[in-house]
Amino acid sequence: MSIAARTTASSLQESGSLEAIIEEKIVNPKGSVSIKRYSKGRFLGKGGFARVYEIQDLESKKIHAAKVIPKANLTKARTRQKLMSEIKIHRGLKHPNIVGFEHFFEDHENVYILLELCINQTLNELLRRRKRLSELEVMVYMTQTLSAIEYLHDHRVIHRDLKLGNMFLNEKLEIKLGDFGLASKLEYDGQKRRTICGTPNYIAPEILEGRDGHSYEVDVWSFGVILYTLLIGKPPFETNDVKMTYKKIRSCAYSFPDHVAISAQAKDLIEKLLQSDPESRLSIQDIYKHSFFNMGFEIPKFLPPSTLAIPPSES
Ligand code: ADP
Repeated sequence: MSIAARTTASSLQESGSLEAIIEEKIVNPKGSVSIKRYSKGRFLGKGGFARVYEIQDLESKKIHAAKVIPKANLTKARTRQKLMSEIKIHRGLKHPNIVGFEHFFEDHENVYILLELCINQTLNELLRRRKRLSELEVMVYMTQTLSAIEYLHDHRVIHRDLKLGNMFLNEKLEIKLGDFGLASKLEYDGQKRRTICGTPNYIAPEILEGRDGHSYEVDVWSFGVILYTLLIGKPPFETNDVKMTYKKIRSCAYSFPDHVAISAQAKDLIEKLLQSDPESRLSIQDIYKHSFFNMGFEIPKFLPPSTLAIPPSES
């Protein structure tokens, strides 16, 4: 089905201060044209080259998040290619802990990517409010994250940009992994990737070294960085200077501060994930089996909404 669309928007509406109607023109197989209408709502956030809004399908009344990418931002072939790769990878994924990819279309001005709406922001904002999370919360969030990563790797996808800001929360406080802008799909299992990518604090040492390429283990490294960050309250290799951070990552120089109490199991898991040699890191299956996730009680499936602002009660 070929798709084209037209947007009705006034200059005020374009500024995001008023609701706009977005029209998607659908050319049906027999050549007839139908129009699907969406109403653009609340501004949710801004990314590298997209603005994200709530958007309501006026027919089904369903509300999604719409990533709106102005075509003016897609003049470079490389940027266009990256967006196409993001769409191609993300649309093929379906998992309860991955942001659902609903649909995409374009008009003269923009490309629109409709995604599952995650109303509770990301773990980044949560950690900023809470400073650090309890081990129980970390167990809940990281089990869900692990399930998403396992699914990705089973489908030969390396995320390559796992970080708190890409871990969205829906209304039930379930993790929804998003942003496949740096993801890579391997053609065969032993294939290595060479492009430098990732986010400074979370990037794996073998990406910085760049010599032998990298693979699935870079996501396991980032998983370790996330685990540390949620429990301690700041990333393990954080400094004021990116070059210094990279140096620390290359030599795996981090420590556990005395003022934060964490369990021996949590420490042991972090140490087994933050290994310079990718081969020495735990496998996904070994992470599931690690004592941190097996403390003799069942990890709850959900956390109460109160934990968005205050720690869960100990009882
Ligand atoms: P980036 O440039 O970091 O990839 P995105 O374009 O993915 O950022 O998203 C930018 C911002 O839009 C996010 O930080 C978040 O606030 C919001 N956002 C993105 N996707 C969703 C979603 N599915 N549900 C709710 N908010 C979202």
